[in-house]
Amino acid sequence: MNEGAEKQTAGVPLDMLGELRRTHTCGELRAADAGVRALLMGWVHRRRDLGGVIFIHLRDREGVTQAVFHADADAAVHDKAEMLRSEYVAAVEGTVKLRTPETVNPTIATGEVEVVAEKIWILNDCRVPPFPMEESVDVDEEVRLKHRYIDLRRPHMQRNIMLRSRISFAVREVLTAEGFLEIETPFMTRSTPEGARDYLVPSRVQPGSFYALPQSPQIFKQLLMVSGFEKYFQIVRCFRDEDLRADRQPEFTQVDLEMSFPQQERIFEVIEPLIVRACAVAGFEVSAPFPRLTYRQAMRSYGVDKPDRRLPPFHCVEDLFAGTPLVSAGLLLVAIHIPKTGALSRSQRDELRAQGGKLGLRVYDDLKRLERDFAGPMAEVRARAGAAEEDLLVLAGWAGEQPPRRPEETVLAACGQLRLAVAQAYADRHGLLKPTDFQFLWVVDFPMFEWDEEEQRWMAAHHPFTSPHDDDLELLTGDPARCRAKSYDLVLNGVELGSGSIRIHRRDVQARVFDALGFSREEARRRFGFLLDALEFGAPPHGGIALGLDRLVMILAGENSIRDVIPFPKTAKGTDLMCDAPAPVPEKQLKELGVAFRKRP
Ligand code: ASP
Repeated sequence: MNEGAEKQTAGVPLDMLGELRRTHTCGELRAADAGVRALLMGWVHRRRDLGGVIFIHLRDREGVTQAVFHADADAAVHDKAEMLRSEYVAAVEGTVKLRTPETVNPTIATGEVEVVAEKIWILNDCRVPPFPMEESVDVDEEVRLKHRYIDLRRPHMQRNIMLRSRISFAVREVLTAEGFLEIETPFMTRSTPEGARDYLVPSRVQPGSFYALPQSPQIFKQLLMVSGFEKYFQIVRCFRDEDLRADRQPEFTQVDLEMSFPQQERIFEVIEPLIVRACAVAGFEVSAPFPRLTYRQAMRSYGVDKPDRRLPPFHCVEDLFAGTPLVSAGLLLVAIHIPKTGALSRSQRDELRAQGGKLGLRVYDDLKRLERDFAGPMAEVRARAGAAEEDLLVLAGWAGEQPPRRPEETVLAACGQLRLAVAQAYADRHGLLKPTDFQFLWVVDFPMFEWDEEEQRWMAAHHPFTSPHDDDLELLTGDPARCRAKSYDLVLNGVELGSGSIRIHRRDVQARVFDALGFSREEARRRFGFLLDALEFGAPPHGGIALGLDRLVMILAGENSIRDVIPFPKTAKGTDLMCDAPAPVPEKQLKELGVAFRKRP
C-alpha cells in the first residue's frame, strides 16, 4: 500500500448498513423535490472542504448529487464528513434544498438542488484509486483493464453498460412480441461451421477427446427449426480463435435468430424494427426500410461489400474517356467524389497520388487540367456524380503496364480503399462522416463461393449451409464463380453489423453444395453428420441472421472500441489483464486431463 493509501484509509470507523434504505438515487432529485427528506447512498465522487462547510458529490449509477455539511449545524456530522475521501462508500440523510441561482450546477441533472446533510454513515473506505473517476481524464488502457472493476465505475462506462442492458432488453421485447422463443444452445459442443479456429476443452472422462466452444449456434438453431420451434433467438456468446486484430475479441456476443418458412424479406422485416428500436433506446431516430444493394452493385459503386453510405458512391467513367491515355484497354476508370472538400493543396495532392500508387492506382487529381483537356467528358462525370463546384473529384485507374489478375474486382477494391482513405483524411473535417449519421443498408445476393488460392478450391463465402439462389442451382457445378447465394449482410457506416442467409433445407441440395466445395461424403458426414441426418427428417425451409451486439452497442454509444462496451474484455492479445487469463494450470490438473505439451515447431 502506498503512503496515500494509508492516509486515505487510516482509522476510519465504519458503520453498518443495518436497516438503512435509500429513498432516492443520486440522479433523481430536482427542484420540485425541495423540502423532501432524502437518504442517498453511493461513492464519494468529489469532496470540497471549505473549513466550516464540506461539499460532497455523492455518485451512484444514476448520477451525482451534492450533499452539504455545515460545521455550525452539527459539528459531529461535519467531523465525520471530514473523514470522507475519494471513492469511500457513504449514506447521507438530509433535506433537499434549492440552490441559490449562482450556485446552480448545470453540468449535473440534480444541479438545481443539494441535500443539507443531517446524518452520515461511512459504509466503507477505499484505497487511493489507480486513476481518477472523471471521464475527461485519459487513462492508459492497460491500467483501466487491470482495475476494470474501478474503470467500470466511471460514469461513461456505467452509461455504456447500462445502454447495453437496455438494448438487450429491447431486443428481447421486440423479438418476443414477434413470437420468437429464447432458447439456449450448448457451449460445450463440437466444431461449428464459421471457418475460424475452435477453442477446445479437453474431456477428463474421455481422454483424448475435446469439446469445441461454439463459433456460433448455427447448427443448433437450424436443428431447432427441424424440431418445429419456428422462431428462435438468443443473445449468445460465440468463441472464435482468430489471430486477434485490434478490435476483435475471442468471445463476443451475437443476437442470433432463426425462423421457419421465411423469404429473405421476411428476415429483414423482423430485423429492421429491432434496429429502429435499439437506436431509439440510445436516443436516435432512424427510419426503415433500409436500402438494399446487391453485392455486385455494392462493389461497382463502393468497391467494398460493406459500403459507407455517408459518402456518395463512385462512378465508373471509362466509357467517357475511351481512346484517351487515361484508359488502358478494357480497364476501369473510376471517378471518386467527396463532397465539400474543395481543391486540395499541392502536398495533399502528392499524398493522394502516393496513396493511390500504393494501391496500384494511377490518380488523376488535377481537376483544373482535366476540365481543360477533357471538357465534355468531365462535364458528364460531374453530372453522373452529382458533384458541385466545391466538391473533390478525382479519377483513378490501374497504374501497372499489365492488367491485374482479376481486373475489375482489383481496380474496384483499390478505388474503394482510396475513397475511404481520402474521406477519412479530409471529409470528417467537413462534418461528412458524422458518427451519428446512421446509414444502414442490406447487401444481398453475395456470391456463393470464394476461391481459396492456398487450398486451390472453392470455399463457402458465408457457410456451407447457405442456400444457392433458386435460379443458380445449375451453376453450382457449371460455373461456381457466378453462383449467387441467398445470403445478406446488414451494414452500418462501413461496418458489417450482421450476416445471415436462407439455409439449405433439402438433403439433395446440401449434397451438391458439399460436392462443389470439394468435401468428400465422409468428411461432410464426419463434421456435420447429425445435421445431414436431420435434413432427411422433414426440415422446413428456414433462414436466419446474427447481429454483432458488441459492435451495435459500440456505435450507438459513440465509442470507437468494442472493449468500451464489454464489461470484462480481453486485450488484442486475448489476455484478461485483471484475472490474468489465460494462465498455466498445475501439473496435476493436466495429468487428470491426460494433456501434455509439445513444443510448437
Ligand atoms: N452463424 C452466422 C454467423 O455467426 C450467422 C447466420 O448465418 O445466421 O455469422
